[in-house]
Amino acid sequence: MHRIYLDANATTPLLPEVFEAMRPYWMEHYGNASSIHQHGQHARSAVEQSRATIARLLRGLNSEIVFTSGGTESDNLALFGVLSPESTHGEPAHLITTTIEHHAVLHAAEALEKTGVEVTYIPVTPKGLIEPAALKAAIRANTKLVSIMYANNETGVIQPIHELAAIAHQAGALFHTDAVQVTGKLPLDLSADGPLKNVDLLTFSGHKMYAPKGIGVLFVRRNVRLAPMMHGGTHERQRRAGTENVACIVGLGKAAQLASEWLTTEGPTQLTALRDRFEQGILSQIEETGINGDGAPRVSNTSNLYFDHLEAEALVIALDLKGISVSGGSACQSGAAEPSHVLTAMGLTPARARASIRFSLSRLTTQEEIDEALKIIPAAVARLRELSPAWRRPEPQTV
Ligand code: PLP
Repeated sequence: MHRIYLDANATTPLLPEVFEAMRPYWMEHYGNASSIHQHGQHARSAVEQSRATIARLLRGLNSEIVFTSGGTESDNLALFGVLSPESTHGEPAHLITTTIEHHAVLHAAEALEKTGVEVTYIPVTPKGLIEPAALKAAIRANTKLVSIMYANNETGVIQPIHELAAIAHQAGALFHTDAVQVTGKLPLDLSADGPLKNVDLLTFSGHKMYAPKGIGVLFVRRNVRLAPMMHGGTHERQRRAGTENVACIVGLGKAAQLASEWLTTEGPTQLTALRDRFEQGILSQIEETGINGDGAPRVSNTSNLYFDHLEAEALVIALDLKGISVSGGSACQSGAAEPSHVLTAMGLTPARARASIRFSLSRLTTQEEIDEALKIIPAAVARLRELSPAWRRPEPQTV
């Protein structure tokens, strides 16, 4: 059976070109990038080339790219780097974030609260958007950092980041954004006079953009002071100690180069068209179904749909048996009975949130796969609804 993978927001496939670029760095080029001999210099040069490619993708400076182990570490480094007691010198500090962040931000914020940092969690509108007025209202004299995700991993809803970052800067606070679900999908311009000039810290992760798991980046704008979380060597300009993961850094550089190229092709338009074809196909065939985040700007690959009167968990399993991989809520939550914190924050009832599924396409998803999914999903939904006591029974036919 040809399996159809519609869970690219959980992780993307590794591109063959990325794998090929990495291959020599597992075997013959195994040097430590900190060593001064030839083996080391070869590794150093590969790391720096990759840094330059990534800086080009973000229109940032090479020195602003800090390699980490992934999105979770980058988010933690941004929050703790600005708000740990070492950075605040014990002064009362205030963090603003939102109710729909990934747990890498939410749980880091909760941990900071225990150290005395005050945290405000701004709510979202029913479309999943943060209102600039809500951010303005939350700002205090001691607000040191605002952390708002660029696009949500469950719904794909894109926040007005330019406007939100400008508000933070006007108030003298730093601005961090978790751009894990945006990097490689939308063009980003972090140059000093570009549209994202007010973003000080930006997170992204390799395995959401066709590179391996366990590698990521925190963009740290020049002049932003960040306390390291890990103590050790002087790697990454003293911002992230630990021997560089050379092979994965090379893979991430290759993925960044491929993403830069893809963004200039018809690829993004075609991916949006494929996602729209999928949504229209579902909505025209299945009643009492809708799009979570409908009407808000969304990244081109994500579709979060509710199918009233069924449990997403059951649909995920039914589709898995039919060869389709999808996710109910975020991957980190699958298996948990709790409805998604993102969907409930948008005002969905717990029942509707538990009836919601995330479909996320990759650059490799084909129209044939979407058309096949459009045959399988309506049948699976109909079967599960028939078993649901909440689903109305058809009137008995009289002959
Ligand atoms: N932030 C967002 C928005 C994500 O979607 C994810 C992964 O699902 C992460 C952070 C964590 O990234 P990583 O898996 O690289 O730690």
